[in-house]
Amino acid sequence: MPINLGTINNYYNINLRPSEVADFIKKEINKEIKKSNIDLNNINNLEEKAISLIGRPLYEAFIKGYTRKQWEQDPKQLPADIITRLPVRTNYNANYFNDPHQGLPKDGYFKLFENILNHKNIDIKLGIDFFDINHLVPPYCTVIYTGSIDQYFDFKFGKLEWRTIRFEEETLDIKDYQGTSVLNYADLDIPYTRIHEFKHLHPEREYYNKEQTVIYREYSKTYQEGDEPYYPINTLANNNLHQKYLEEAKKQSTLIVGGRLGLYSYWDLDKAIQNSLLTFAETLLNR
Ligand SMILES: Cc1cc2nc3c(=O)[nH]c(=O)nc-3n(C[C@H](O)[C@H](O)[C@H](O)COP(=O)(O)OP(=O)(O)OC[C@H]3O[C@@H](n4cnc5c(N)ncnc54)[C@H](O)[C@@H]3O)c2cc1C
Repeated sequence: MPINLGTINNYYNINLRPSEVADFIKKEINKEIKKSNIDLNNINNLEEKAISLIGRPLYEAFIKGYTRKQWEQDPKQLPADIITRLPVRTNYNANYFNDPHQGLPKDGYFKLFENILNHKNIDIKLGIDFFDINHLVPPYCTVIYTGSIDQYFDFKFGKLEWRTIRFEEETLDIKDYQGTSVLNYADLDIPYTRIHEFKHLHPEREYYNKEQTVIYREYSKTYQEGDEPYYPINTLANNNLHQKYLEEAKKQSTLIVGGRLGLYSYWDLDKAIQNSLLTFAETLLNR
């Protein structure tokens, strides 16, 4: 994933060139739209939306089962607005991200944050729930809150919905289990959605050549109290509810809500970091 020229050529057993992909996909989409009477101006659910973007065969092979596992719901029951696009690459690039510059901090994120936090003005207390100490914060003090916003307001307008995941770790006595850092499992009869083999993120490190590897199977599940919220379920109803909480937050001049939990956004790290830098520039610098 994402679907690229290799996926398409292998799956259909053809040999398209990059310039032929767009027309090929268009024909696949049109075939299905005629067959199942999908009205492009009135898309009713995620399945219809996906088919209107990539056609039925690719949808059924790579998206349907995965989506079913990811959301624990039939894609026909899911709102279309969960997806806006399903990227199809017209080349053999198998990287997950499209960004022109990609990488990891030289010594990893742990070291990066350790260095940032190593400052005389920064004092860190771990293992403390914010709500246990909130009453100790003086009213004039600025609070930057990056937890889930509904909890901050004691769920007074209702609860935001989340998905979460469970990881199953296994250490194997082989050098290389899957040959890459992440593999998606789109079939419904396999209960997990992905397997991670983290050593592939750092082929330059010494442990890469060790005769052992660690894999994590990733299972998607509904968020329940006590779980860590991971992915917002950005349906219209949830987004409206979140907006209501944001309006409430604006009434407190010393409160800054941020982060993927506070802003109920599916962000990668670059977006999360960008957002905190912008928030700092726009809000805190002016105080
Ligand atoms: C499974 C998974 C895979 C991902 N893969 C990638 C990837 O490959 N590349 C990429 O760029 N991004 C990835 N991301 C996204 C990335 O992790 C997030 O964008 C980033 O962590 C967001 O940072 P944040 O500070 O906004 O939120 P978080 O990292 O979630 O930080 C919020 C913190 O607030 C704490 N908190 C919440 N409530 C309270 C409370 N009441 N009291 C005290 N503390 C509290 C939480 O414990 C948490 O530590 C992934 C995310 C997930 C879930």
